[in-house]
Order: sequence, then structure tokens, then C-alpha cells
Amino acid sequence: MADAKVRLYVDQPLAEGQSVPLTREQAHYLFAVMRLGPGDRLRLFNGRDGEWEAAVAEAGKRAGSLICLERTAGQEAPPDVWLLFAPIKKARTDFIVEKATEMGARRIMPVRTAFTNAERVRRDRLAAHAVEAAEQCGRTFVPPVDELRPLGAILERWPAGRRLMFCDEGLAGARASLEAAPPAEGWAILIGPEGGFSEEERARLRALPFVTPVSLGPRILRADTAAVAALAVWQMTLGDWR
Ligand code: SAH
Repeated sequence: MADAKVRLYVDQPLAEGQSVPLTREQAHYLFAVMRLGPGDRLRLFNGRDGEWEAAVAEAGKRAGSLICLERTAGQEAPPDVWLLFAPIKKARTDFIVEKATEMGARRIMPVRTAFTNAERVRRDRLAAHAVEAAEQCGRTFVPPVDELRPLGAILERWPAGRRLMFCDEGLAGARASLEAAPPAEGWAILIGPEGGFSEEERARLRALPFVTPVSLGPRILRADTAAVAALAVWQMTLGDWR
């Protein structure tokens, strides 16, 4: 199958003529699952050096190597928007990470709020979902996934110059609010858990000078739907969908 459509994320530097050794999992995926063999082409990216066309140099059952041929795309500089979300059930949390990657989030931050049920998240699993989504959707950038941290602690040390789009029911329309917000160096989006935010959290968030509260319409969305919807509105108003 001489098909350049397979895209693979690798850790190694990418440059013309560079040999890229494969891990056991990568060799299994390319040679057993995708049925590539010596000479076949594929695309590589590492999150730093853009996208490269490569060819299979050696193909074994558990190992192999590729050779990097030519650059097919420059390194993407994604719009500066983080997604902060309260983790929910496992499959829905996986979905949020996958969709946030497709929608162009720059960093994915699970946060613990007053009504968050999840005590822990498997950061490595979520990061693997981000890699897979980036491979699939043609991004050359893989958003890092942070460890679960308390929302309060993040708000206390909020970076100067970054605004927070606080998604809550019953507020002013998202697009108009984003357009009216003061210019910012970067943004973040905050989505609550199934139980929503506590009154205390709401009051605190609304009082913070860097917060822009927004509504995503009159229907109550599930947290996973809300994350995708919020990223769409942000990309359309301030990001790379304009
Ligand atoms: N608070 C609701 C359910 C929360 S929905 C309840 O108690 O029944 C989960 C999260 O999705 C919310 O915290 C909010 O961040 C986001 N969300 C859902 N629908 C929304 C809407 N219409 N506008 C803004 N945010 C919304």
C-alpha cells in the first residue's frame, strides 16, 4: 500500500535524510495494522518541525525505521486558547480531549470544581487521545494535557494578559460577549461538570477582572457538547475560523 495518508506522531527531530527509529507500538501499527512495507510513504510530525513525508526503510514485526524525505507543511502555531474542563465519566472525558484537539485547543487542563466527581484522571491516557486526534485531523501540533488541578488554585495564579471565557447557563450571548471583551494576549475556556458550578464559584468567577461570562444558548448542554460548542464560538469570533 503505497499511500501517503498514514500520519504518525513521533518524538524524534525531523529533517531531510533523518532516520527515525520506531517503537514496538509504532512498528505494529504501521506494518501489522496499516500493512505498510519497505518503500511505502507516510507523513510524520513531532509537534515542532512541521509535517514531513517519510518512507519505510526497514519493516520488522516489533521494530523498524523510517527515512525522512521532504517537508510537506510548516509547523502550525495554533491560536492561543486553553480548554479548562471538569472531568466527567471516562468515555466523555476522552471525547472532550479528542474533540478539543480537533477544534484546535492549545492546551487541555482538567480542573476540579466543587461539583466534580472524578478524583483522578489518567493523564497519560488522555495525552494518547490527543496524539491520536492530532494524527487523524492533520494538525502538526499536539496540545499538552495537564494533571487534574483544583480550579481555585489555577484562578489564584492566573497568568497576566489571558482572559477566561466562563461558560455558564443564563448569561449573555457568547459571540457578542467575546466581541465586547478587551483585547487579550491569550484566552482560556472554562466548562463545568454535570452538576454545574456552585453559587460560590459563580460569584467568584464573575467578580474576577479577567473573566468574560458567556451563555451557549437557552438549552442546557452536556459538558462534552458545551466544550465543542464553546471552542467553535471562540474559533469563529477570535480564532482561526474567522
Ligand atoms: N448546571 C447544569 C448542568 C451543567 S452542564 C445543571 O446543574 O443541571 C455542564 C457545563 O456545560 C456547565 O457547567 C457549563 O459550563 C456548560 N454549559 C452547558 N450548557 C450551557 C449553556 N447553555 N450556556 C453556557 N454554558 C453551558
